[in-house]
Amino acid sequence: MSTNTKYIFVTGGVTSSLGKGIVSASLAKLLQSRGYTVTIQKLDPYINVDPGTLNPYEHGECYVTDDGAETDLDLGHYERFLNVPTSQANNITTGRIYQSVIEKERKGEFLGKTVQVIPHITDEIKNRIKLLGKTGQFQFVITEIGGTVGDIESLPYIEAVRQLKWELEHDCTVIHLTLVPFLSTTGELKTKPTQHSVKLLLEYGVQPDVLVCRTEYPINKDIRKKLALFCNVAAEAVIEAIDASTIYEVPLLMEKEKLDVIVLKKLGITVTDEPKLDNWKTFLNRFHNPHKEVRIGLIGKYVELKDSYKSITEAFIHAGSVNDAKVVVEWIHSESLTEENVSERLKDLKGVLVAPGFGNRGIEGKIAAIKFVREHNIPFLGICLGMQCAVIEFARNVLGLKDAHSREMNPATSSPVIDLLENQKSISHMGGTMRLGAYGCELEEGTLVREIYNLPLIFERHRHRYEFNNDYKRQFTEAGMVLSGINPDAGLVEIFELPHHPFFVGVQFHPEYKSTVENPHPLFVSFIKAALDK
Ligand code: GLN
Repeated sequence: MSTNTKYIFVTGGVTSSLGKGIVSASLAKLLQSRGYTVTIQKLDPYINVDPGTLNPYEHGECYVTDDGAETDLDLGHYERFLNVPTSQANNITTGRIYQSVIEKERKGEFLGKTVQVIPHITDEIKNRIKLLGKTGQFQFVITEIGGTVGDIESLPYIEAVRQLKWELEHDCTVIHLTLVPFLSTTGELKTKPTQHSVKLLLEYGVQPDVLVCRTEYPINKDIRKKLALFCNVAAEAVIEAIDASTIYEVPLLMEKEKLDVIVLKKLGITVTDEPKLDNWKTFLNRFHNPHKEVRIGLIGKYVELKDSYKSITEAFIHAGSVNDAKVVVEWIHSESLTEENVSERLKDLKGVLVAPGFGNRGIEGKIAAIKFVREHNIPFLGICLGMQCAVIEFARNVLGLKDAHSREMNPATSSPVIDLLENQKSISHMGGTMRLGAYGCELEEGTLVREIYNLPLIFERHRHRYEFNNDYKRQFTEAGMVLSGINPDAGLVEIFELPHHPFFVGVQFHPEYKSTVENPHPLFVSFIKAALDK
């Protein structure tokens, strides 16, 4: 293989939500399993600079990388599939592109020229695409273009792909993901939407090399031939992407369809061997044939929108597979929980996870749930806001600080057990005060978490403003709470646990972001094990 980085572009047609992220991640997995180094990048056509300020109702979970980038949830899939960390460079939005072009304009870098979409915006896009290749770390860069071909806002991206096809010549290829719908009235799969979508791409000057067709039913030879004929692609380059029972099945479906082989051929690479997917298959096999089942309550305020907790539910899948168990998640809306109904709602659960979040809504329901699981020895994992709620609950019900709260929820509380750090109080810019990305955390010897991680120092990702208030440290520890994970630089409490409870752990960071198929997160694995033991 030549030393040039190969670029693979993935565009989408007909409709959104076809699963470009999963197809990109699956192709990446196949290439990685052939021994290549691969990364995946997502270009989002919206004008927000990053998804950090987006409400989860708009765009699902905000995924955080080691370097503290707030990114699209597809990056979570990339990491879960590839087991390789992503970074800010892996997620670019139109807002960020314009922001940097405008900054350059203000600095006079365009030497008095009129700044335009072509070439200035498209140059910026192209630079961002090539940036990952230039690191020298990757033989393949897969770039997923968000949105659907034909959207006004994705035009500059498609134009950048058109230009790159000329510049990169044989070092790039374009995959178009499209829908082949089934019409129940005639009992037929229809190719017309795909023909139209490809025609639109051609209008913009981009000929796709491969079509990946999402479908509910198998696509037969005739349909493949027809699509090939109308869309100027080889019949073998028409790939069926049939609905799968789990996203983790998709790499195997794509392998069967030879997506990786076709892409490699298009890029002029001789194909030897098969992808080595033994570990992946072992994981899938355990996932499909679990010997046990365990019911876990997930308490949050966005439970009607399951994408808001994507990384958590995926981490449950990874941890379930290790424990040979199917994790059945019971979604519980925190606003629906009260002191009165909590016992009825939670008594049959084997474990409870209280989710991250912002703002006051549903807080009292979370606190009531935590009191119940603490007193009834039900395994508990509190993440970020979930950890903070457990601190508040302990302060109120064990320390007797009845008014205890986080200053986020009650600025006037007389016992701010969760508070802003002094140096954050003067910053008003949204996002300016967030602790984002990976921070070190020292684990106390002899604690449960030290045993779980089996390491003295860990690095986990954060996304929050408020912290455990160290003024209360003594009161908590004297009452039996163990502060088992401490940030070595700032002395912040990152983890606490309650001994004499089968599993009661609160973490200020987000372990779910780092759970992958190959590396299920130890905290989730132990939490599920504790739930199974109950
Ligand atoms: N709202 C809390 C804070 O800002 C927790 C954030 C979270 O759960 N991600 O500190």
